[in-house]
Amino acid sequence: QQSPAPRPIHELPDELISQIAAGEVVERPASVVRELVDNALDAGATHIQVKLMGGGVRSIVVEDDGCGIPVAQLPLALKRHATSKIANLHDLESVATMGFRGEALAAIASVSDMALASRTAADAHAHRLDARSGELQPAARARGTSVEVRELFFSTPARRKFLKTDATELAHCVEAVRRHALARPDVGFAIWHEGKLVDQWRAASVEQRIRDVLGDDFVSDSREFELSIGPMALTGRAGLPEAARSRADQQYVWVNGRYVRDKLISHAIRSAYEDVLHGHRQPSYVLFIEIAPELVDVNVHPTKIEVRFRDGRALHQSVRRAFVDALAKSQSATAADAAS
Ligand code: ADP
Ligand code: MG
Repeated sequence: QQSPAPRPIHELPDELISQIAAGEVVERPASVVRELVDNALDAGATHIQVKLMGGGVRSIVVEDDGCGIPVAQLPLALKRHATSKIANLHDLESVATMGFRGEALAAIASVSDMALASRTAADAHAHRLDARSGELQPAARARGTSVEVRELFFSTPARRKFLKTDATELAHCVEAVRRHALARPDVGFAIWHEGKLVDQWRAASVEQRIRDVLGDDFVSDSREFELSIGPMALTGRAGLPEAARSRADQQYVWVNGRYVRDKLISHAIRSAYEDVLHGHRQPSYVLFIEIAPELVDVNVHPTKIEVRFRDGRALHQSVRRAFVDALAKSQSATAADAAS
């Protein structure tokens, strides 16, 4: 049998490379919201507005009051692998910002109609760059950056078909902002849809922010914990077993401010509930892990929702202990109540 002739190898055009990268980073409007809010936080914003139309499919505008982008650098911000956040391998190993891959804006721009408007403290006025046409114009806004993303996936209809109803996409966008809001109580957030305010959270204490986002019931039905071991600090709230839910919709874990999903961590938490929670009931919790950046690798997945820990065993033990202690305290408190 004859083998087929080899097909020629050629380099892909930049635009297509970005569209392929976008496949990993931008799954739906909520992914765009997440990336843009990450950028606003990295820019030191104290107030972030997220304005959506049509569930975020028609348009997403994220406005911040951060440091802004110098006009000469606006085109660079849209370039693939262009970032202000790391410069070398050493920086990558101790990265403290949400972003570092320099991929998000390029990826989003390749699958939408994007514009950036920005003003730094040194600028007399803002500038607006249209990603598609490359046109740069003077604009009006206070210090900070607005990113406008319209008609997501208009050029990739296959992707667009995977989107759900506007209401579902909106719910995912709101959830993305809630995850940021819980991690950053010092920052004010507002979300708008079709010109109406959906939710807003003013800068507050950690506990007040948890109340504002997850509700008073979450707080009264959970116990606080705080555990420091070596280079690691765990804080948060463990939901009482009685308040467990049928769905795992109130389980939040952040590592150095980054929302993550991690099998090891969920396993550790699940094991802490093993004697008090039966069947498929799901505990509610928020867990903030602060750890020396060298001990966690955030460069595992383009969306950075997965991370890898240098010492997984130690982390598993500590997480389990934090939850076991919180739950034990709540049981002895209940026992003391009953005895008195
Ligand atoms: P990354 O966040 O990984 O650096 P992005 O593509 O998300 O990559 O952004 C590229 C660059 O554009 C950032 O490194 C930053 O310098 C600049 N930038 C993006 N968004 C903002 C913003 N809201 N405020 C200030 N600078 C921004
Ligand atoms: Mg980014």
